[in-house]
Parts: sequence; structure tokens; C-alpha cells
Amino acid sequence: MRVSLLPEGSASLCEKSEKVSYKEALEIVKKLRWIIAHAPWGNPVGMAAPQIGINKRVFVALNKAYINPTLVRFNLGGTSIMSEGCYSIPHQAFSVKRHDQVRVTYTNEAGDRVVETLHGWEARVVQHEYDHIEGILIDSPRP
Ligand SMILES: [Zn+2]
Repeated sequence: MRVSLLPEGSASLCEKSEKVSYKEALEIVKKLRWIIAHAPWGNPVGMAAPQIGINKRVFVALNKAYINPTLVRFNLGGTSIMSEGCYSIPHQAFSVKRHDQVRVTYTNEAGDRVVETLHGWEARVVQHEYDHIEGILIDSPRP
């Protein structure tokens, strides 16, 4: 397998991704796991399909695949600001404010629809990858 990251500044990184079939998603997950294992530097904690040029709603975060996810951010859970990097904006760090608690509904690799409440670091990584399928990068202006 040979998978490449889209270069920084590619227009499709800022486009909203489309829903994906379960079968196609499994193929994309294989590619995402490949690029995570063969990243040009560092150790990625996640990767989203748009980053490899596929504008479909699927990503891998902390070794877990999220297919057609929806995300709810809990305002009462609080927010925090942390420095983040991104393989689509190489070798730069940005301070990003994120919710500390989110609920994500998604199809997993086994094909089950699951609902999970995530906290802290896991919530942050999932929000970062979820932003990718919404066409939002860590240097994008945010509300
Ligand atoms: Zn990223």
C-alpha cells in the first residue's frame, strides 16, 4: 500500500466531507492506519480521510475508527486550551480551545452504531479529527 498526505494548502482540506458507506469506510480505514504507521515524522494520534485526499466522513483517533460520526459538545463540561499540531499544517503548533467533554455517535469497524462520552485528551483528539471532516483546520478561524 502507498498512501500520501495531501500537501498543505490543498483546497479540499477545507471542504466538508460526505457520508461514506461502511464497505468503503473499511478500505479508507486501512489507508489511514497505513499513513499513521508510515508518517513522515512523529507519531500521529489520529488521521482523517480528507488528509489523504478522500472527502468522506471517516477518521482514526487513538487507534479507533470513527465512521459517519456525529459530535455533540457539552458546554457544561468546560473548555481548555492546548497546543496542537497537524500533519496537514506541518511543523507548526497552534493553541486550540476545545471542549473537555463530547458525545460521539459513530459506526465502529465491526459495523455497530455506538454512542460514547469522551473526556479530556480523547475528546480533544476526536474533536481535532472531526473538524477535518467538517473542513476545519487548527488554523481556521473558529466561533
Ligand atoms: Zn489534523
